[in-house]
Amino acid sequence: MDAKDLRAKFVEIYGDGGDIREYFAPGRVNLIGEHTDYNGGHVFPCALTIGTYGVARKREDDKIHFFSANLEDCEVVEVSLSDLSYQKRYSWANYPLGVVWAFDGKGKKMTQGFDMAIRGNIPNGSGLSSSASLEVLTGTILRDLYGFADLSMTDLALIGQYSENNFNGCNCGIMDQFAVAMGKKDCAIFLDTSDLSYEYAKIALPDAKIVITNSKVKHSLVDGQYNKRREECAEALAQLQTVVDIQSLGELDNEGFEKYKDVITDEECKKRARHAVAENQRTIEAVAALKDNDVEKFGKLMNASHVSLRDDYKVSCEEIDILVDLAWSIDGVVGSRITGGGFGGCTVSIVKNDAVDAFMEKVGAGYKEKTGIDAEFYVVDIGDGARRTV
Ligand code: ADP
Ligand code: MG
Repeated sequence: MDAKDLRAKFVEIYGDGGDIREYFAPGRVNLIGEHTDYNGGHVFPCALTIGTYGVARKREDDKIHFFSANLEDCEVVEVSLSDLSYQKRYSWANYPLGVVWAFDGKGKKMTQGFDMAIRGNIPNGSGLSSSASLEVLTGTILRDLYGFADLSMTDLALIGQYSENNFNGCNCGIMDQFAVAMGKKDCAIFLDTSDLSYEYAKIALPDAKIVITNSKVKHSLVDGQYNKRREECAEALAQLQTVVDIQSLGELDNEGFEKYKDVITDEECKKRARHAVAENQRTIEAVAALKDNDVEKFGKLMNASHVSLRDDYKVSCEEIDILVDLAWSIDGVVGSRITGGGFGGCTVSIVKNDAVDAFMEKVGAGYKEKTGIDAEFYVVDIGDGARRTV
């Protein structure tokens, strides 16, 4: 189903006429800088050309309607503007509803409702941020439909994160929504999450492609473990703050960490903090390497990122490690690592053009042999951030 079909579906469900508008918000992949965005560190994600399409139109009454063409037998979820509360039965629609709630809470009042239909072509729950895509899509729609022109794309990212944190209960950092909102074709975003300053870095890879491999597994621990990592980092930070004046782990470099680390009493917390510090330094180094056209070095830093996420941060899993080990064994793979929150989901690899076919064949076969699962591969392009399209 493409954008035209989604519009037809919208008309079929809600009727024709009026001012029907179309939108798109990308998914994202993070090249390096994982689990640093809630530790005041740097991240380096890029928006993809795949993402979530949306069609929307304002209504006369105060009803809001949500529909997803991705879900079989999806029924329209109806909510009234006078009761913007989280309801389990709304299921997936709590994501866009959370954004409406956040707008309302921030004084962006709406008296008329709207109809909305979406369809995504990013896998859900696989670390490519379909949730942030849906949130920023919703924010883009509301800003446009209701003329909240004073909101910047950064504001829409912050509202998306706020709604995911406070309405949907996932304590995510700002990286995902920021990448979805601010993405730029052929560029990754070097974002300092301590103050949201950022710069675009051109990803010119004439000899290579970015290949995402979907392990097709998601271990159920995700949200609990994610929040636990945040707590472990907070504990490590609090102990470090008794000996050094820092606001976040991102303010330490590797040397500083070595100097002060023994104040962290819990060995596991120490490892989490070591990852947060080292990963931030790796990200800074990786972006510098890219500026020097040293793609090989960038790849090695991606590999080191994986090792740190696997051993120190403990957010990988058997299936992902199999994918990464297979990738590392193939000639022409510049770098490969887990991407996203972890415990399953996807890996991201940089693969030389002439090795892409062999990569998909060998990783696919090896993974199938070891796990019985058919991995999925996406050779991706870097696209622009969320926008109105029609
Ligand atoms: P990720 O953001 O990595 O894809 P999450 O678990 O954070 O994984 O978000 C996935 C959830 O977002 C889905 O379970 C669903 O509730 C919602 N979602 C995202 N895209 C869509 C869509 N196109 N249709 C319906 N729900 C969607
Ligand atoms: Mg998500």
